[in-house]
Amino acid sequence: MSNPQGSPSLPQERRLVTEIPGPKSKELLARKQSAVPPGIGTTLPVFVTRAGGGVLVDADGNSLIDFGSGIAVTNVGNAAPRVVERVQKQVADFTHTCFMVTPYESYVAVCEQLNRLTPGDHEKRTFLVNTGAEAVENAVKVARHATGRQAVVVFDHGYHGRTLLTMTLTAKNMPYKHRFGPFAPEVYRVPLAYPFRWPGGRENCAAEAAAQAIDAINKQIGAENVAAVVIEPISGEGGFIEPAKGFLPRIAEFCRENGIVFVADEVQTGFARTGDLFACEDEGVVPDIICTAKGIAGGLPLAAVTGRADLLDKVHVGGLGGTYGGNPLACEAALAVLESIEEDRLVERARHIGDIMLPRLHDMAERYDIIGDVRGRGAMIAIELVRPGTTEPDPAATAEVAKRCHAEGLLALTAGTYGNVLRFLPPLVIPDHLLEEGLNILDKAIGSL
Ligand SMILES: *Cc1c(COP(=O)(O)O)cnc(C)c1O
Repeated sequence: MSNPQGSPSLPQERRLVTEIPGPKSKELLARKQSAVPPGIGTTLPVFVTRAGGGVLVDADGNSLIDFGSGIAVTNVGNAAPRVVERVQKQVADFTHTCFMVTPYESYVAVCEQLNRLTPGDHEKRTFLVNTGAEAVENAVKVARHATGRQAVVVFDHGYHGRTLLTMTLTAKNMPYKHRFGPFAPEVYRVPLAYPFRWPGGRENCAAEAAAQAIDAINKQIGAENVAAVVIEPISGEGGFIEPAKGFLPRIAEFCRENGIVFVADEVQTGFARTGDLFACEDEGVVPDIICTAKGIAGGLPLAAVTGRADLLDKVHVGGLGGTYGGNPLACEAALAVLESIEEDRLVERARHIGDIMLPRLHDMAERYDIIGDVRGRGAMIAIELVRPGTTEPDPAATAEVAKRCHAEGLLALTAGTYGNVLRFLPPLVIPDHLLEEGLNILDKAIGSL
């Protein structure tokens, strides 16, 4: 079965012709190990030669089901035809001028689109950078500049990147922070409404967590010292934690009351992934600044900071930017992505994926008491594995399930502060039969423990 939105000539099938990884991938892995430091990890050591729709094809000719999308990047599919076409044309016209030196239209067009499509109908501005971390760093720069304040508030289980500031904003020590200190100053962490693990129970989670977070800000920092609150509307690396309903709006309201810039880090949740164009829309939260990256350009490196015009316009000429920010190839790719989301109805498609996955996973949770929680929205879905009958995390079982999935040709990713979350991020163009087949593999992998 071919997929109209995927790479059309790439058969949409799981096909294993060697063990995983096969001999060619093993040879390449040996080269990687002598050329690349181990700090750059590998989830599944198959070396990819082609990808599209819902599959990754490796050097040995295996075709694997992709439940990762390169970590929520290829939402529109890998080598998506619209992206390929626009990038091919652009690469022949010009590859770089530096937008800050001599500009070009596609950069402006991407900014116009993001100003139009992000939550809220207030006047907005956008500028482009290269990575999610860079977007978050820049949001903090803008918030500090505009408010004249320094403190930045982040949450338990948060992930915001690997640069000095963003690893400081990130919650988890291993592997992100361990021995990389000292960290950036004026960063404060407060509780997140994590329903599955809230001591007071799911029903009290939103109100209690918001009260604790706000109390910590007032008592430990002073709201008048806070430049920005930075939050993922659904935690990504932290384990796809959907904050209990009511938590995000309450935090946003507190920010509004206190002149604090509310920054939504939608680097992982953006671009139709969660069944809304942006995850904040689910509860009608309108951020002052929204950071986007990952899904924005179908795999080309691009990120954006979009926010209230009155905040972004405050920064002096030359205070923002970077050599490659808004590279013309990446901008063309982003325009193709936005076109695909609209024309291929990928928001609906993400909801459809959730409608297939969630009932299957809830059914597995009935049968396997190792599954403690099933959660997520759209095509951003996760299960949390625990010791049966408890909430005690089981990272060993989680790693084993992922390993068994990989051996059967299903790329599944793990996540979570406790390393006990299996997260599923299929490309939004994955055909239904591959989604079902992937879930069958997962079911068997858990059942075989
Ligand atoms: C991936 C991610 C980042 C960092 O993006 P990079 O492009 O890897 O720098 C920041 N925030 C969130 C929520 C992410 O998922």
